[in-house]
Amino acid sequence: MKSKFKAMVLSCIFPTFQPLVYDYLKKKNLIGKYSAFTIAGGAIGVTHSRFKKWHSVFIENLSTSIKLHNIEKLIIINHTDCGAAKIVNEKKNFDFSIEQKIHKLSFIKIKNIIKKKFPELKIESNLMSLNNKIRKF
Ligand SMILES: [Zn+2]
Repeated sequence: MKSKFKAMVLSCIFPTFQPLVYDYLKKKNLIGKYSAFTIAGGAIGVTHSRFKKWHSVFIENLSTSIKLHNIEKLIIINHTDCGAAKIVNEKKNFDFSIEQKIHKLSFIKIKNIIKKKFPELKIESNLMSLNNKIRKF
């Protein structure tokens, strides 16, 4: 049986990012069909050791949404110029190439975690610029 809900959306708390996330999901015809987990850094927040306390909170919420809403997919939307990426950066500089590596690593980590815990769940990972440009990973 097909569920009427489709996905959980994991995204960052940044204020001007919210309407971009909404627009993206609207274009994908997902309004009213996704559960939302919004936390600083998105995938960075739920995978980086700097934010360890948040990891299990995310997994428990995802597990709950899988049970309650029968979702089939996790849609991750991180964004560029993210404060959480700056917080976890261990290099002296911070530029787009460094930031992109931080996002990529968070996508790799989250995919490994999800594969083990919820092997059926599909995953889509995106990095969105604050000017609404999307990169898929
Ligand atoms: Zn952010």
